[in-house]
Amino acid sequence: MQVAPPGRTRPQLFDALPALADALPWRPLVHAPTPIEHASAIAGWLGRDDVWMKRDDLASPLYGGNKVRRYEFLLAEVVARGARRIVTAGGLASTQVTATAVFGQALGLAVRAVLFDQPITKYAKEALLMDVSTGAELIWGGGYLTTVLRTLRGLLRDRRDGNYFIMPGASSPTANLGYLDAALELAAQVERGEMPRPDAIVLPTGSSGTLAALALGTAWLGWDTEIIGVRIAPRLLCNRFTIGNVVRATDRFLRVREPVRWRRSRPARWSLYHGAIGAGYGYPTPEAIEAIDRVNALTGQPGEVTYSAKALVGLRAIAQEPRWRGKTLLVWNTLSTPRPPVAADAPERVPQRLRWVLEAPEVA
Ligand SMILES: *Cc1c(COP(=O)(O)O)cnc(C)c1O
Repeated sequence: MQVAPPGRTRPQLFDALPALADALPWRPLVHAPTPIEHASAIAGWLGRDDVWMKRDDLASPLYGGNKVRRYEFLLAEVVARGARRIVTAGGLASTQVTATAVFGQALGLAVRAVLFDQPITKYAKEALLMDVSTGAELIWGGGYLTTVLRTLRGLLRDRRDGNYFIMPGASSPTANLGYLDAALELAAQVERGEMPRPDAIVLPTGSSGTLAALALGTAWLGWDTEIIGVRIAPRLLCNRFTIGNVVRATDRFLRVREPVRWRRSRPARWSLYHGAIGAGYGYPTPEAIEAIDRVNALTGQPGEVTYSAKALVGLRAIAQEPRWRGKTLLVWNTLSTPRPPVAADAPERVPQRLRWVLEAPEVA
């Protein structure tokens, strides 16, 4: 399968902000533009039929979802720095770990991932098998504190390989440029008449780089679109202040590198919806379990509780709020529909200390 999509030689962002093209490495990974479709399959469930979706779940046939766009910039930087290994951390079912494993392998980089505990779902087991099948080195992290210590140890080991650290969630300013580019891609689709200009964009939010970059990008375009994050991570890590920081850091990064053309007439407009998370990151809620099949109706692949199902729970509540009545809503599908292949011997390749995951009862 092809890593580089045919014909994609340059992000739209480099045409809009040419100084970035000189300052930053970039590698094509996204099969762009991703389709825009009508969410008619869930219209009855939503209670309205004027909702659209942006299918970033199809961003790559290797593994789609929102991390791929970030990796066009971030993995290019890893390669440009001469690093040969990426060290990262994430939950047992982390999509960022899977994306790192898949695209790291595709670009010839070693990947070492430290995995912290989260509720064991069917999807979490599958993620572990997908991750191990890429050849990534997996380390059990346990709780948050031991995960931090084991990640540090993982960074210090084999330092000659030039280990490059990617934070859980990978929402650095460099990575966030992927969703600035996505905002321009959406604008071109609106221009072509594929959908009306959205009044609100709804998406699941954790480390918040996707939300921050879409809010900056739409503001730069001069749109008043509100970007609504359905919070899927703990409030301590995902709140007004943390998101404000990601917005400001990304904004500053752009001002320094493109002082002439990076000018906004509007502030970034975004908000958070807190009602879908339930007991915490990765924990099922009855509404999310019900919504797993709605993801299937939209994409042809069942969802999971951490991201995609909670996003639809949030979308439904938002779609019924009086202030969005008669407005154009766009749900941004961030979970990959393609699932990377699982090797026949994948269960045996799972390190001893992580084997318990495969046997644990599934909460969803
Ligand atoms: C990572 C991820 C998110 C959260 O994106 P952030 O930019 O970290 O807020 C949402 N949905 C899916 C499927 C993801 O993998």
